[in-house]
Amino acid sequence: QYIIAIETSCDETAVAIVKNGTEVISNVVASQIESHKRFGGVVPEIASRHHVEQMTVVLEEAFEQAGLTIKDMDAITVTEGPGLVGALLVGVNTAKTLAFANNKPIIGVHHIAGHIYANRLEKEFNFPLLALVVSGGHTELILMKEHGSFEIIGETRDDAAGEAYDKVARTLQLPYPGGPMIDKLAAEGKETIDFPRAWLEDDSYDFSFSGLKSAVINKLHNAEQRNEELKKEDIAASFQASVVEVLSEKTYRAAMEHNVKQVIVAGGVAANRGLRQALEDKFKETSMELLIPPLHLCTDNAAMIAAAGSIAFEQGHRAGLDLNANPSLSLEVYSDRKK
Ligand code: ATP
Ligand code: MG
Ligand code: FE
Repeated sequence: QYIIAIETSCDETAVAIVKNGTEVISNVVASQIESHKRFGGVVPEIASRHHVEQMTVVLEEAFEQAGLTIKDMDAITVTEGPGLVGALLVGVNTAKTLAFANNKPIIGVHHIAGHIYANRLEKEFNFPLLALVVSGGHTELILMKEHGSFEIIGETRDDAAGEAYDKVARTLQLPYPGGPMIDKLAAEGKETIDFPRAWLEDDSYDFSFSGLKSAVINKLHNAEQRNEELKKEDIAASFQASVVEVLSEKTYRAAMEHNVKQVIVAGGVAANRGLRQALEDKFKETSMELLIPPLHLCTDNAAMIAAAGSIAFEQGHRAGLDLNANPSLSLEVYSDRKK
């Protein structure tokens, strides 16, 4: 079974071909980071235009690397949402055109389901499993009891973890995207500042990062007024310590409560070295298996969409040619529907 996937939800134009749901045959990603850098973040209009410009090139490259053609594909899968509407539309329309012209089934995939299924490209899932999704727009704890079923047991009430990284980085005048930069600085700094940890209610698996972000901004502001010298490395290390402690502790508690077999980490912030280390330490003594994808599968790519799409294909999900981009598609709605 060959599945082709198209992903254009944000600022990466990506196409991949995956065999039998787990074997990556080709995985092409054209990043737009350079174009958005000078604006300090993703500009939706620019993102859409780049997707249009890059799509044919990336598509051809994916087929060429695989040595396959559209005729060899069993289904076309595409990120349907969530994401930037104009960006998503480029992928959805490309997928529909390919499906119509070649008479192939088409399946819409949830972007976060994709981030989770990136892990299945490395290791078979073992249910029940707990997924910690930490990306630019999402911070969620998701319980999976079977393939294609997603239950959100905790989520952020304000900023996503990646968003907090990017905002703090901007305050420190670091270039976009800030997450990797803070990660690097944190490794060189010391945890000299005791930033708050937002634990929320005792039994809550929800997250909150906006208070921490404000605490960092206040700290910098006060230091500036008092002409106090603060090292960026120490701020980064102290900020990261707070984020990592809350993420890893809540993940640990939820994994214990639900007695899961696997704990998987997904999304761009899964690339964070501090988080990877903290989770490894926490789960080392348990019987639970911790899966963290390699860096290139943590950030946006289409192989992960093909991996999730392959399961949807096997489960009989099909979209029609009326498939539309859905910028606010919920994971639970996606989980429940059987098309
Ligand atoms: P979403 O998947 O929620 O729609 P997105 O696709 O923009 O959002 P990803 O591409 O999964 O998000 O991840 C990008 C985020 O990951 C950015 O916020 C970036 O700063 C962060 N990030 C990447 N590497 C690291 C790192 N090493 N440490 C911390 N954050 C990181
Ligand atoms: Mg991105
Ligand atoms: Fe993403």
